[in-house]
Amino acid sequence: MRPADLLWIPASAVAAYDIVPDVLARRGQAAVRHGPAASGVVALSFDDGPHPEITPQVLAALEAASARATFFMVGENVRRHPELVRRIAAGGHAIGVHTDHHRHAWLCPPARMRAEIAGGLEAIVATVGARPLWFRPPWGAFNATSFRCARALSLRIALWSCDAGDWLPGTSGAAIERRVVRGLQPGAIIDLHDGGQTPAGCAAMARALPAVLAAAVARGLRADHIGALFDLPPLGPLSGLTP
Ligand SMILES: [Zn+2]
Repeated sequence: MRPADLLWIPASAVAAYDIVPDVLARRGQAAVRHGPAASGVVALSFDDGPHPEITPQVLAALEAASARATFFMVGENVRRHPELVRRIAAGGHAIGVHTDHHRHAWLCPPARMRAEIAGGLEAIVATVGARPLWFRPPWGAFNATSFRCARALSLRIALWSCDAGDWLPGTSGAAIERRVVRGLQPGAIIDLHDGGQTPAGCAAMARALPAVLAAAVARGLRADHIGALFDLPPLGPLSGLTP
């Protein structure tokens, strides 16, 4: 076998397992990036939490504005902060799956990918006694298994129409506010972070959040959880969970 052949085989396997599904998800209908504009709703979503300091600040801002949102949680953080998770569910917010350990799909073979999605789901179910309806893959990255697994668990896949950029090193609250306000359109899904590897960005986001929510009101938009864009409840009954 020629060296070129040795390169071609793993490259084609990577393309079939990771890159092709990823591109199809971003361009096709498999993942939701935007809701109907007629809804008059903007869906703020917070990834990577819950975090014991940032998430309560986010909840306080949402409660002050009578707004609801979606929290895409990492399973290991759910197990660390169950009271916070239950408080979020009691507030009428949606909770979505963001894997169990925040793994990138392109680095997960099939068994690992299934364990990451199922583990993240089970952590939420065990904590709130209801089932999430949404899955957001970390970094928005897919592989072939993540599609099949999400479908088998009746999880809809949600990406976003606006990236707050609160994960960018050195970003400021003013820059986050500017990026989000630019994306505040009817049906928009906004991606923000209340946990993860950029605590300074999360803190800046939390400080900017009241101004973002005020801007949504000024535009006649209702900030609500992602299911409100599609006439779905924030969480589903356990009876609908596929084993
Ligand atoms: Zn994430």
